[in-house]
Amino acid sequence: MRCPYCGKEMEQGYIQCRDGVIWNNKTVPVAVLGSLSFSALRLGEYRGPWGGHAVVAWNCTDCQKIIIDY
Ligand SMILES: [Zn+2]
Repeated sequence: MRCPYCGKEMEQGYIQCRDGVIWNNKTVPVAVLGSLSFSALRLGEYRGPWGGHAVVAWNCTDCQKIIIDY
């Protein structure tokens, strides 16, 4: 994938978390309860009790931008 900001090739990687990778339109008082918010968007897939949740993420180190598809 090419970076939409600078046009250079981005590096594919992952964002991985034990309790899920969740986007919200605001922060929540207790992070582990973030998936209960009405705006919560769960990203990635569950990879088991040791792997947690992971989502593919593209990184441009020049622009310091990360892009995630969902
Ligand atoms: Zn870039």
